[in-house]
Amino acid sequence: MPQARISAHPTLHGTDRNEPALRATRCTACESTFFPPLRLGCEACGASDAALLPVEIAPRGVLRSAATVHVHAGDDIEAPFVVGEIELDEGPRIRGILEDLSGLGDVEAIGRSVEGVWHRCGPDPEGNEVVDLRFRLCEGATS
Ligand SMILES: [Zn+2]
Repeated sequence: MPQARISAHPTLHGTDRNEPALRATRCTACESTFFPPLRLGCEACGASDAALLPVEIAPRGVLRSAATVHVHAGDDIEAPFVVGEIELDEGPRIRGILEDLSGLGDVEAIGRSVEGVWHRCGPDPEGNEVVDLRFRLCEGATS
């Protein structure tokens, strides 16, 4: 029996399709997109919360900054790992963990195109596949 794929952060990530998606909101008055999703009105134009519609956007964009974390107190990820700020094609800037830089160092990867991929965290007690979002360089990325 096939198990479901569920996000470690279901309010932020859509798991209905094979490709990862970010749950965002878009303002119908000014077209601004927000991630994490806004609920209390548009920060860009001041429109009320009624103008904010839920949308799913692709976790694709350009890496704008990156740093390698060498010491991490949590047990959710093992150091060292690279965290970066990504300017999404849809506008918002988000932070994410980069799991594959194709051999580049963190600073060398700045300016490259990146995309979100599912990272398998393991099964939950019901046997569902729990996933979280990570980023990697896009194939053939040069920009
Ligand atoms: Zn707006």
